[in-house]
Amino acid sequence: MDKKTPTLYIVIPCYNEQEVLPITAPMFKEKIISLREKGEISSRSRVMFVDDGSRDKTWEIISEFAKTEPQVFCGIRQSRNRGHQNAVLAGLFEAMPLCDITISIDCDGQDDINAIDEMVSKYKDGCEIVYGVRSERKTDSVFKRSTAQAFYKLMNAMGAEVIYNHADYRLISSMALKELFEFNEVNLFLRGMVPLVGFKSDKVYYARAKRLAGESHYPFKKMLALAINGITSLSVKPLRLITVFGIIVSLLSFLGVLWVITTRLLGNTVEGWASMTAIICFVSGVQLMSLGVIGEYVGKCYMESKRRPRFIISERTNKARENEDN
Ligand code: UDP
Ligand code: MG
Repeated sequence: MDKKTPTLYIVIPCYNEQEVLPITAPMFKEKIISLREKGEISSRSRVMFVDDGSRDKTWEIISEFAKTEPQVFCGIRQSRNRGHQNAVLAGLFEAMPLCDITISIDCDGQDDINAIDEMVSKYKDGCEIVYGVRSERKTDSVFKRSTAQAFYKLMNAMGAEVIYNHADYRLISSMALKELFEFNEVNLFLRGMVPLVGFKSDKVYYARAKRLAGESHYPFKKMLALAINGITSLSVKPLRLITVFGIIVSLLSFLGVLWVITTRLLGNTVEGWASMTAIICFVSGVQLMSLGVIGEYVGKCYMESKRRPRFIISERTNKARENEDN
C-alpha cells in the first residue's frame, strides 16, 4: 500500500441511467486523469460502474466505455435490481482487493466531484473514512429538502447514528472496508453501518447540484422505506418507546379506573358510552401500532436468518479483476 500515490476506485451505482451516463462518465474520467497527472493517485486507479440490473441500455453503455477505455473504466453488473445500497456494497467489495481507497458516488452528477481531491488529501492526512456532506440543498425542491431533513432528524431521534446531510458519497480505505466486510447483515443501511466501523474520519462539504439528466429513483415512498429500514437495522429504540408508551397508558388507565369507581359510587353511571368508545379506539390503535413495530423487527430477524447473498454479480467488463496486473 502506498499512501502517497494510492490506487483509487470510484464506485458508481447506476440504475436505468442511459440518459445521464454519457454526460457524467467523461466528468469522472477527467477527474481520474487529472488526479493521476498530478501524481495524487496511481495509474491503476479506475472508475467502476455497478449496473444494478438496469432495464435500459445502461449496461451496453458501461461495456462500451470499458472496451474503448480500459485504462479508465470498468464495470460489473448485478444479476437483477437489488437497490442502491446493495449495488454500492457490491462495487466496494469488488474494488477492495484492487485498490487502497474507494469513493462511492451517485452517477447523476448531483454530488460535486471536485470534493474528491479533498477526500484524497484527507486520506493522506491519516483518515480512513471521509464523509461527503451536503452544505446546502438549494437545488432540491422544497418537498425533497424538508422530507430529507425530517429523515435525518427522525433517524437520530430513533437512535440510528447517521451523519447529518451525508448520503452515500464517501471515501473508505481498503483497511476500513475489510472491517466493513465483517458486518454480515443483509438489511443494508450503509450510512449507519460505516460510522460503526470507527477509525479516524473527517467530513468534506460540497453543494448538491441538480440531476444532470434522467429522473430520481428515490420518491417519497422509497425514502420512507429507507428510513424505516435504517432505524430498525440500527436501533431497538422504537421497541423501548413502545414499552415507555405502554407504561404511560397504563398509568393513565389507572387514573381512569379511579374515576370510574368514583362515578360509580356517586351513582352517575348511565352515561359514559362516548368515553368508553374513545378509550377502546385509542388503546386498540396503540396496540396495533405496537404490534406493527414489533412485527418490523420480527421480519428483520426472519430475513437475516436466511443469510441470502447481498449481491450477485452476473457480468464483469474487460475483466475488472485483471486490472490488478496492469
Ligand atoms: N440506484 C441504484 N439502484 C436503484 C436505485 C438507484 O443503483 O435501485 C442508483 C442511481 O442510479 C443513482 C443513485 O443510486 O446513481 C442515487 O439514485 P437517485 O439519483 O435516483 O436518488 P436521489 O439522488 O434522487 O436521492
Ligand atoms: Mg440523485
